[in-house]
This record gives sequence, structure tokens and C-alpha cells, in this order.
Amino acid sequence: GFYSENIKQLPPDPLFGIKTRCAKDTRPEKVDLGIGAYRDDQGKPWILPSVRKAEKLLHESDDYNHEYLPIPGLKQFTQLAAKVILGDDSKAISEDRVVSVQSLSGTGSLHLAGEFVAKFFVPKSSDESSKATIYVSDPTWANHIQIFEHCGLEVQKYPYWNAATKSLRIKEYVETIQKAPKGSIFLLHATAHNPTGMDPTEEQWKVILKAISDNGHLPLFDCAYQGFTTGSLAKDAWALRYAIDSGLYSFPGVLVCQSFAKNCGMYGERIGAFHVILPEHNQALNSAVFSQLSKLIRSEISNPPGYGAKIVSLVLSHPELRKQWQQDLITMSSRIMGMRKDLVAELQRLNTPGVWTHITQQKGMFSFTGLSPSQVQELAEKYAIYMSGNGRASIAGLNPGNVKYVAKAIDAVVR
Ligand code: PMP
Repeated sequence: GFYSENIKQLPPDPLFGIKTRCAKDTRPEKVDLGIGAYRDDQGKPWILPSVRKAEKLLHESDDYNHEYLPIPGLKQFTQLAAKVILGDDSKAISEDRVVSVQSLSGTGSLHLAGEFVAKFFVPKSSDESSKATIYVSDPTWANHIQIFEHCGLEVQKYPYWNAATKSLRIKEYVETIQKAPKGSIFLLHATAHNPTGMDPTEEQWKVILKAISDNGHLPLFDCAYQGFTTGSLAKDAWALRYAIDSGLYSFPGVLVCQSFAKNCGMYGERIGAFHVILPEHNQALNSAVFSQLSKLIRSEISNPPGYGAKIVSLVLSHPELRKQWQQDLITMSSRIMGMRKDLVAELQRLNTPGVWTHITQQKGMFSFTGLSPSQVQELAEKYAIYMSGNGRASIAGLNPGNVKYVAKAIDAVVR
């Protein structure tokens, strides 16, 4: 039977829990800086103009139906997705070393990656019976840890964020890579590190990638914010393209988890892809990997969602929509950068105690503000401003109508 001794009540998910509490708050001045979803200048969800046009085209086309997709997803979508992330001129693609399948957004892609390495990744010199170990940044997106534990991997942390100096603990990070058992897996945030908003510099990336390569580890890039960070798809994919294409590193493979939730604003449509980049062309291995991933997909979701895959394919392949999309990425990323500047300017104007310039140095959806759990709690209780307990604020929740109010509230709780 089912017994309460072994089915324990769990607390609500920390991030979705904030959303629920904020939704219940009836104070008109409330501000949601919790969940990472883009909002426009009015604080409203935004359907990208490129996506709106693609939806119209799809509705008018012969392809508009709700049939099943093939098990590994829409081929046109996975091929276009690989090109967006790896680059149009990617050597890995032209050398036929990339195996791509569709996934349930970034989360589903991470889950597939976890299942795939748990089942098939054999660290060369290690005892085959031992569990694969994945290293994630400290801190990281909370879901990473439970996804990989769910897949049966052992999860360890590498030092990342120095709260005192608000910078990377690069020395300890690299030492951890060097000390990890050969053939460990390293989860790397491709761009816009969540929750800190602090990415390694290009020079730091080179040191990190070299240490991973020298020590026989497998890199897994999680890319949930391509184009959303800077507005440029190429800039935001720099680290993973460099890892794959520079020819300077030798990895047992490179795994890439790709989400279109943020950069296409397709959050609820669950559109993403999982790419396995093999070190050299091997037709038999390519085909075997594809078949095993297909089996994993079949057994878990049967086949992925069609609607969003068709929309994203149109956005990526239609020259006019593609141009509009690139404009949309600039609209979103520059609005967020503008809000960072406005918030810092306002805090400086108020002479708020402390240094706040890290908010403009950090990139992407989030800022790790440095506010303490009790300050975060006070913001919610007294001012109806909601953010994660660790002080992570979704900058997309700021707009010209609330940024002064938020700065004033922060000023009050830190004094
Ligand atoms: N990775 C990171 C670092 C994220 O921040 C997110 C979204 N919050 C994801 C993956 C996946 O999101 P989704 O499943 O909605 O694509």
C-alpha cells in the first residue's frame, strides 16, 4: 500500500512557490522578480513579433495540424537548431559528427543528457561499475541537481561564486577540475550563468576548457539563454563553439542542451534540443547514439511537441522572420540591460549603503543582488517585492513603472 512513513510531504518548489505567493498577493504595487520569464515595459508576457508572424504563417499553411511528430522530433527543427547553436559554418556539422534530437525544452534536454551519460558514458580508466559523477557550479540552477540525481548520477559541486568579492572563484574552480576523477562530467552554463549572472571571461574559459580537456572530462553545455544575453547568437555561443571548433581541446565528446524557452519566448511550448558532438566521424556510432536516444524518448514521452517545433523552424528558416527574431533578441536583451542600469543609478542616487555595480556587470535574466534571505523576506512582506531566497532577482520583472519603487524598497531594507 501507500504509507505516509515512506511518502513524505515536500515543500513547494522554491521558484514556482514564489510565483504562487506573488499571484495571491493583492497589493497593487507588487513586483515579481522571481521566475525567469521575460516581461515587456508594462510588465506583461511578450509574444515575440517573429513568433507571431510564424504562427500566422503556420495557421495558413498545409502543415497546420496536430499530428504526432517522429520520435526524435521534427528533423527540420533539429537541424536548424544545431546550426543556430553550433554556427552555420560548424565543422562538427559538416564532418557529420553531430547527433541531434528534439527535447522537452532545456529541462527535457538535461534529463536526456543525464539518462544518456548514466547509461552509456564510460570514463576510460575507471571502474565501470562506479556511478558517473557530474560536477555543477556552486551555486547553480536548483533543478540541475535534482534532474541529475533523478538520473542516478552522483552530483558534486565546483566552486564558482565568491559572495564577498562578487566574482568567480576561478582558481578553486580549475583546481576542482584537476582533482576530479578522470572522466567526470562538467556542467557548464554556456551563457548568462543562472543564478549569478556572472560568466567566465574568454581568457577564463580557455583555462577551464584546457583543464577539462587535459583531465579527460566530458563537458556538458547548458544553453538556455543564447541571444538573450547580449542580443548576439554568436557571442552567446562563443564558449561552446570555441570548445568544439578551436581544435585546441580533445574531449570524449561534447554534450549540448539547448532551450528555446527564453530566446523565442516559447516557455510553455517546451521546445529544445539535445546534441551529442562526437570527437570524430563514425557513422556506426552516430547511428547507434541516435537510435538509443530515440528509445529513451519513446519510453518517456513517445514523441515531442509539434506546434512549437514548427513555429521555431519557421522563425529560423524564413529569412524575414529570422531577421525579425534577431531584432527581437536585441529588444529583450537591451531592455534588460537598460533596467540594470536604471536600478543601479537609482540606488546610487539614494546613496544606498553598499556597492551595486555588480548588477550592471552581471548578464542575462538574473542578478545575484547580494541581498540576504531576511532582506528578501522583508521585501516580500513589507513591499510586495518577490525574489528567490538566495537574493536572485529576475531583472526582466523590472520596468520603468516599478524600478524606482524597487530601488527605494531595497534602500530601506539594507539600511
Ligand atoms: N538551464 C538553466 C540554467 C535555466 O535557467 C533554465 C530555465 N530556467 C533551463 C535550463 C531550462 O528551462 P526550460 O526547461 O524552460 O527550457
